[in-house]
Amino acid sequence: MSDTGDGKLEVKQASKEVKESENVAEKYSAMTVSKNTEANMGDLSSAFSAVTAHKPVKKQIQFVEDKQEFSRFPTKTGRRSLSRSISQSSTDSYSSAASYTDSSDDETSPRDKTQANSKGNSDFCVKNIKQAEFGRREIEIAEQDMSALIALRKRAQGEKPLAGAKIVGCTHITAQTAVLIETLVALGAQCRWTACNIYSTQNEVAAALSEAGVAVFAWKGESEDDFWWCIDRCVNVEGWQPNMILDDGGDLTHWVYKKYPSVFKKIRGIVEESVTGVHRLYQLSKAGKLSVPAMNVNDSVTKQKFDNLYCCRESILDGLKRTTDVMFGGKQVVVCGYGEVGKGCCAALKALGAIVYITEIDPICALQACMDGFRVVKLNEVIRQVDVIITCTGNKNVVTRDQLDRMKNGSIVCNMGHSNTEIDVASLRTPELTWERVRSQVDHVIWPDGKRVILLAEGRLLNLSCSTVPTFVLSITATTQALALIELYNAPEGRYKQDVYLLPKKMDEYVASLHLPTFDAHLTELTDEQAKYLGLNKNGPFKPNYYRY
Ligand code: NAD
Repeated sequence: MSDTGDGKLEVKQASKEVKESENVAEKYSAMTVSKNTEANMGDLSSAFSAVTAHKPVKKQIQFVEDKQEFSRFPTKTGRRSLSRSISQSSTDSYSSAASYTDSSDDETSPRDKTQANSKGNSDFCVKNIKQAEFGRREIEIAEQDMSALIALRKRAQGEKPLAGAKIVGCTHITAQTAVLIETLVALGAQCRWTACNIYSTQNEVAAALSEAGVAVFAWKGESEDDFWWCIDRCVNVEGWQPNMILDDGGDLTHWVYKKYPSVFKKIRGIVEESVTGVHRLYQLSKAGKLSVPAMNVNDSVTKQKFDNLYCCRESILDGLKRTTDVMFGGKQVVVCGYGEVGKGCCAALKALGAIVYITEIDPICALQACMDGFRVVKLNEVIRQVDVIITCTGNKNVVTRDQLDRMKNGSIVCNMGHSNTEIDVASLRTPELTWERVRSQVDHVIWPDGKRVILLAEGRLLNLSCSTVPTFVLSITATTQALALIELYNAPEGRYKQDVYLLPKKMDEYVASLHLPTFDAHLTELTDEQAKYLGLNKNGPFKPNYYRY
């Protein structure tokens, strides 16, 4: 990685090759898949080449104040503090975030409760341990669509590649994450877990994990103080020190750096899933402060090209329909940003017969939109006529107050990007506008002339706030995370330096192949002649690092 001088980090391809012939993660990932897949995955000797690559990120990351201390008296309810903003990632990061549990039945803060699981263990803090049975059913349902992780469990159970690993995790706590956590436990790890988002915890799942002996500190609707308290309770525990970190957003990593830097003496590696957290890691690396190796899972092809695209294609309509019951046929929709998320949203909208406009700043993405049959416009050209605005840019102030003023009565505005800065929601909190909460996560903002604009999830990620996301897509990301943890934990000294690494293409191909049997997909094998003609190893990798898919 190098600094280009303008503050951006330049991508460096294949800057560090891993020399070891055998890679531990590969060994344990060689699970039962279709014959074709096994044939293609037989030789994975050069996997985990270390690549320091980085997609420049434009956003400034807001770190929590160093002076953060916990309130002696936690809020009685998470509810009252929901509107507070805390770290950007904790409020806005994405993954499966919807909970089926409504926490309104019990207003007591979990911090004020004394709870124990059926074995008398009380090393956890969740909303209600009695919901464990319900949560277990949710986890079992998720397992059905996460067969790659289940197979990994079976395959590696004898050897326990994570034996001795003490993993502290900070992710969305959902049924899908629970399958990942329980896979890590089955492979020998001890886990302590907290939530990366104050809204996204499925309380019943947190209860089920606690009942099963995982130390979980999380509940839906945490306050700011609760959020950091939970992270602290995961790390700051007598007689237990983590040696691996699995993070989504970088808050946990940041907390350990600020509060317990000595913990890093024992940490073998960090695995980070989100664009925000990866950006933070590169910042640390650039400042020479990254003291352990880190895996950037966010920029794996199997994450970016699947989670961002297919997850959004599957969940955008769900979020819109659950909140508004809107019919899309013939509706005029403008999607801001035609990247992976925008492409996914547009595909779904087009399929339902919506008339879709795109706004873009990048001529390449704009041209793609044109070739896909969408009109590329400036937002101001269509602002008065559109029925729905969806932002997917990762940028800020993409929809301004001035534009919101010009939207027509009954129009809907929402965001699918990581951060709640895309729509200038703050500008709508002025005395002349009335806010009416009509449903959970649905506000009518009413202008003095009676015009209503429907704002969803207060400008936060629509799909994560208002719907669920498909388990299968999360399985792909979770498998990549598990393999990254196994690799970093088992890597011989010196294989990985104090830097940020990308999973090699071969591992990406491997993760993809593990999910092919679900579709009974049969890969074509290269003949010797074809492999020679293309200059490829018959077992991959099949594309160069610069291939864009
Ligand atoms: P991307 O970089 O591929 O696409 C973003 C696009 O927005 C780019 O093409 C860029 O040119 C365009 N853009 C930037 N500023 C713009 C502006 N002012 N007006 C119009 N277009 C503009 O990124 P992506 O993978 O599509 O992700 C977009 C956002 O969604 C990110 O914040 C990402 O973290 C988030 N995300 C959300 C989900 C989810 O489930 N909702 C899943 C993955 C990623």
